[in-house]
Amino acid sequence: MKLHHVGVAVKDLDEAIARHEKLGLRLAHREVVASQKVEVAFMGSGPWIELLAGTDGESPVSRFLDKRGPGQHHLAFAVPSIAAELKKQSAAGAQLIDKAARPGAWGHKVAFLHPKDQGGVLIELVEEAH
Ligand code: ZN
Repeated sequence: MKLHHVGVAVKDLDEAIARHEKLGLRLAHREVVASQKVEVAFMGSGPWIELLAGTDGESPVSRFLDKRGPGQHHLAFAVPSIAAELKKQSAAGAQLIDKAARPGAWGHKVAFLHPKDQGGVLIELVEEAH
């Protein structure tokens, strides 16, 4: 497993992009993921910082922001096969949020592991499309 990106919840995506550009990270990819009610921006060149902003108040990211405020939301690791990794993690006792891979940002397949078994950290698995 290799760190793929760090997800950071933000209230204002444009402001957060500008702030990361000031740090010296370039915008690599920006996309609305309608199924997750989220707009994301990947900053840098890998491992990336994925900035996440909810597209409406019902978005899981908006609820996260309401509860915990802006900041680190998840860690994402690249894996060769999500199906194989979910099987392995499940057998090791990890609670899965996704039983199977689903489409994520940037054309990748993704799946999440529940934070309760991961020291409170939401873990995303990424099977890269490119
Ligand atoms: Zn992510």
